[in-house]
Amino acid sequence: MHSSTLHQRFEARFSNGQTAGADEVTVELTQTGLVIHLSGGDSVTWPLAKLATAEPLTTHAIDALVTCSETPGATLFVPGPKFARTLAQVAPQLTASEARWRSARPWIWATVALAALAVFIWQADLSPAHFVANLLPDKVRETMGRQVVGSLTERRRVCDANAGRAALDQLTERLSATVSPPRNFHVVVVDWGLVNAFATPGENIVLTRGLLEQATSSDEVAGVLAHEMGHGIELHPETGLVRAMGLSAAAELLMGGSGGTLGNLGVLLVQLSYTRDAEGQADDHALEILSKSKISTKGIANFFERMAKQHRGKGSGGLAGMLSTHPGTQQRLAKILAMEGYSATPALPAAQWQSLKTMCEESS
Ligand SMILES: [Zn+2]
Repeated sequence: MHSSTLHQRFEARFSNGQTAGADEVTVELTQTGLVIHLSGGDSVTWPLAKLATAEPLTTHAIDALVTCSETPGATLFVPGPKFARTLAQVAPQLTASEARWRSARPWIWATVALAALAVFIWQADLSPAHFVANLLPDKVRETMGRQVVGSLTERRRVCDANAGRAALDQLTERLSATVSPPRNFHVVVVDWGLVNAFATPGENIVLTRGLLEQATSSDEVAGVLAHEMGHGIELHPETGLVRAMGLSAAAELLMGGSGGTLGNLGVLLVQLSYTRDAEGQADDHALEILSKSKISTKGIANFFERMAKQHRGKGSGGLAGMLSTHPGTQQRLAKILAMEGYSATPALPAAQWQSLKTMCEESS
């Protein structure tokens, strides 16, 4: 352990578990604890021995979701591999080798063992969380999706102006008609100024008012939707939540239980970032969906490029996280733009696009 890595400050997001949303905080690791410097100037120290992480820390960890048994319900999300690596050094009980079997209950051992086996047999990048996500019955995924959408819309209005809703359904239908086997995507727009979009479990997608306002064409919104559909098809939201909840809570869900921290799912999902590979998979689906729908890919390319410039270095999960954490934006744009070569029509006629863009303005 090099002492220079201790006392270094890391940017993080802290949710106290009582109010929705998360505060921007900085954290530092000392020999005895994890010090959280809150925005108001106060600080909280979580003893190293009382910490738990959503999943065991590995050398491949891209972030850390930390909880402390002294403060039930509170979660700390620290993006980036450096903090995770430092934490693994000062709190080795959180590493994969130590924690792999410790928390597993006997009745889920079979699931975990199967998952581990699948990892070895199939492909190296298939995680146990992805395996468990694949085992979740549609009913459970729908329940998870409802809970996530519910917690995201708890304190925010759902925009439901009739004309806008109809336009959005028309666009969703045009895109999802190209997906095989068929998926029943449902898109909800929330009155939230943040520019973002989230795929949530059970083929649900949440778009924000900020995103609709920032978009300059229906092709841009179509591109974002197609990308989020790609995450849905690959079960990325389910996988991310299973990762964040921990395998044992997910197994409880699987067995019809409450899954423990379900109330916090929305907050967790907003904080999650996907890996670069996952973003690439979502892009590949988006390009296929757009080309089969005969919608130009220039829309998604323009939108990503503009957002990447505006959001450089900030943003948390969802679209914002994808744009800020992945340096490969230029390569992704090149791939998207190279795709064009079919005759496209606007994703929505002009009048419907106006209805969609302004669907949060009208009184409901
Ligand atoms: Zn994405």
